[in-house]
Amino acid sequence: MLAVCGGVGGAKLAFGLQEEVGAALTVMVNTGDDFTHLGLAISPDIDTVLYTLGGLADPVRGWGRAGETWQFMTALRQLGGEDWFQLGDLDLAMHVERTRRLAGGERLSAVTADTARRLALAARVLPMSDEPVRTTVETSQGRLAFQHYFVRERCMPSVLGLRFEGAERARILPELADLLADDALCAVIICPSNPYLSIDPILALPGMREALARCAAPVVAVSPLIGGQAVKGPTAKIMGELGLAAGSAAIARHYAGLVDGLVVDTADAADADRVLAFGLSCMVAPTLMKGPQERVALARQCLAFAHELDAKRRAERPEETQPWSRSWTEQDSGPSCP
Ligand code: GDP
Repeated sequence: MLAVCGGVGGAKLAFGLQEEVGAALTVMVNTGDDFTHLGLAISPDIDTVLYTLGGLADPVRGWGRAGETWQFMTALRQLGGEDWFQLGDLDLAMHVERTRRLAGGERLSAVTADTARRLALAARVLPMSDEPVRTTVETSQGRLAFQHYFVRERCMPSVLGLRFEGAERARILPELADLLADDALCAVIICPSNPYLSIDPILALPGMREALARCAAPVVAVSPLIGGQAVKGPTAKIMGELGLAAGSAAIARHYAGLVDGLVVDTADAADADRVLAFGLSCMVAPTLMKGPQERVALARQCLAFAHELDAKRRAERPEETQPWSRSWTEQDSGPSCP
């Protein structure tokens, strides 16, 4: 099965999915946030997913590694270096090693997959593309590179629009294109990442929307809003700046035509009818993932919802074979899926 993921919010659900299906999980990660800083190739969302799924993430900050120290930053500051982007001493090893391997001609996907193996992840973690895509933000203060907007300016400038530079020339990673075209794919879960900053760069890749709409598996998205508010980060602020009312209806409109179902939080149960009005199925469930138990519980709900949607589709179109449904029904022991 495939999880579509940005950084902190998405990685929490990806962790729960890994607990549930292990090596059957592939995580497709946004690279629109990637940038070169101090000569280092930094992929913030990939690193958040690797650290989270590897059990290495800092549980309080949500990003970076647990047990981190900051001697490098202290020394850099002393020398008058750029210090607006925090690079911990442990984290630095990731960027130095990735930079070395990319400079040696390796693909980002190969480096990422190998790092996942070295960190003993069960899941396969892959960038959405090996070609660079760079998110830029049109703001009240002019055009900003993504990390300048997000970290240096702390998301303060108003967002007027978003561009995904290079997306039109980037190709969906071939392994991911193959998985999306695989008739045996059993579920696609769009994690509760920021739809505009984290998921849209993935959807901007040529052919991605079509691949998702066409894929044999049910596609389920989880809303990143609870009670119309983001759990963390600027999702609701950006929605307001883009003229959207922050709530499940706007998230449903955003994903309409792409996903079969949307999971909304119990706090937003009253929005279910508005989600249905966009032609999506709706599941109401607790979506706040405070710790590992909630991550696993939400992963289970998502898989159950996907299974339900799959069964519904099978009943409506019995001529189509749905491999996941078949294995589920025969074994009655949950999904065994690629
Ligand atoms: P980033 O790239 O590190 O900013 O992270 P993402 O884009 O993956 O995630 C940011 C989004 O995750 C925000 O919109 C949050 O509201 C959402 N989020 C974070 N934690 C949770 C949670 O426990 N439940 C839900 N439903 N959304 C969450």
